Amino acid sequence: MHAPSCARNMPAYDCCAVFSLRFPLALAPGETLFSLCSRQHRLWGYGLSSRSTEIMFGGRRLGTQHDFPSGLDKFVVRTEGQLGAAAEIARDRTMLRFYRPFLAKAEIEYAIWAMRGLAVSHLKFRLGLLTSRFRANHPLKACPACMQTDLDEEGWVYWHLVHQFPGVWICPFHGAPLRTSQIKSTGVERFLWHLPAQAQLVDPCPAGDSTRSLALARLSKMTLALVGAERADGWLGADLVQSTLRARLRERGWLTFAGNARLQKVAADYLQHCLPLRLLDELAGLPATLDDAKVQIGRLIRPLRSGVHPIRLLVAINWLFNDANDFLALHKGTAGVDVNQISGENMPLEDEVTKDESHRLQLSALMKSGVSATAAAQEFGIDVSTAMAWAAAEGVQVRRRPKLLKPELRESLIRCLRRGMEKVDAAARHGISVETVTRLLHTEIGLHAAWKAARAARSQRLARAAWTKLLSAHPGVGVKMLRAMEPASYAWLYRNDRTWLTGHTPPRAVGMTAARQSPVRWDERDRSLSVEVEAAVERLAVFGRRLKLWQIYQAVPQLKPKLAVLHRMPLTQRVLERALGRRRVGSATDLLPSDASID
Ligand SMILES: [Zn+2]
Repeated sequence: MHAPSCARNMPAYDCCAVFSLRFPLALAPGETLFSLCSRQHRLWGYGLSSRSTEIMFGGRRLGTQHDFPSGLDKFVVRTEGQLGAAAEIARDRTMLRFYRPFLAKAEIEYAIWAMRGLAVSHLKFRLGLLTSRFRANHPLKACPACMQTDLDEEGWVYWHLVHQFPGVWICPFHGAPLRTSQIKSTGVERFLWHLPAQAQLVDPCPAGDSTRSLALARLSKMTLALVGAERADGWLGADLVQSTLRARLRERGWLTFAGNARLQKVAADYLQHCLPLRLLDELAGLPATLDDAKVQIGRLIRPLRSGVHPIRLLVAINWLFNDANDFLALHKGTAGVDVNQISGENMPLEDEVTKDESHRLQLSALMKSGVSATAAAQEFGIDVSTAMAWAAAEGVQVRRRPKLLKPELRESLIRCLRRGMEKVDAAARHGISVETVTRLLHTEIGLHAAWKAARAARSQRLARAAWTKLLSAHPGVGVKMLRAMEPASYAWLYRNDRTWLTGHTPPRAVGMTAARQSPVRWDERDRSLSVEVEAAVERLAVFGRRLKLWQIYQAVPQLKPKLAVLHRMPLTQRVLERALGRRRVGSATDLLPSDASID
């Protein structure tokens, strides 16, 4: 089993600090849970996805579904709820965010229940996704321009939730066509953590057709405007949408007096709308012939027997309405509502943030005027602890209940936290709950920032120490090998302390110097070991993935003890370096952790 080796040989306390190095990372704007976990896995640098999965979800097969992840309850316990409750994560950071507007309350509750638990295998079936003519595999999608911006601004590439929505094929931020990943959607490698990587992204359909591009842009914009609108769950339920579609058909004179469609005319128009769209795999269930179009129109306007796939509804809305506002003006219960705030560019999460922000300010002002946290919390319908955290964030000193923490205990706790002690350890040392520690962190002004800074400094110290130790233990070993031996420290330094890392990188080609004086026949050992390693690499290469160091020394057990003297074994070192992956061009990117695959 492979673990960050800087965690070895350290007292338990430090070990824990390295192990939970910035876990969990904060969610990037509009990021999915799958994306966050993939980044966490990348940061830890484990060779196997399952190792990170076990730490995050407490099981090797939990949580890795990119659309409807399982094991959320376990995840929330392990992250101490820092990313919110399981139901919140399920609603807003998974594909359920897309489906919610179309689903009844009971279906949404079932979906949340399934994701909180251990198995989501029947979820797609229950939601009717497997019985429709549309595919339910949700290919991972990314915008190349967003990837560049995210890398510049966040230091990471990641998956955006809105890009993953069915019906969205054009990036709302850049107007660029989205590309699909070949990983995950086929079911192969379904337990992997995976981030967007240029090498694995493909254009979903051939470029150059402006009619299709325009059609996709319209559909994407409308989908985001409707699905992204902050409205009650189920507001786009099939029955409601159907009656709005019928109202528009009636306006156009396309329904008979008895309420039947003037099928010939309507179907021809619908087919015309669908043809440029259906070239995409996702939309291949749309009609290809006039007869097919007649059948589908018939289904759309007759009373619905079972669930209709959201894509079918969105395409129909897109067909009959100019834009989201046009639809909303006729949609039952929403006529006359000002819908200017709804547009493809207005992401729901940002709206929530703005709303939270103004609540936060109002609540803080209230508490500043002397109202108690309990009363203020009641006023805003939130938890007392949330109210206290909000007030502290706005610089309002929160009145405390002294019986909860005695002054000496409180002082000692603050001292430990200022030094960056883990919450779990601080709680254990002071005989209190982790929750109490968290509350203090958020209610004592400046403490949370000091705690974070201390933890960052500690992580830096440990990562630098581990790297320095590695450098001195392996003189003459190249950076690629060192990185393979100490992936977690390397990843941390690369992300957070790059200047230092660049200054502490061995020169590229180093010859063997000290071997001749040694009584040990290093050259012979080197020759035979390199042959064995080479053979193992050949055997492993049939799996077709880039190899990790641990895989090689698992296959050649005698290699591991030799890693410490690799500088005496240039042949073996060369074989390993070749096997551990291609070298990029240019000195700056030589150090870049691979984004081609993270398995
Ligand atoms: Zn973009």
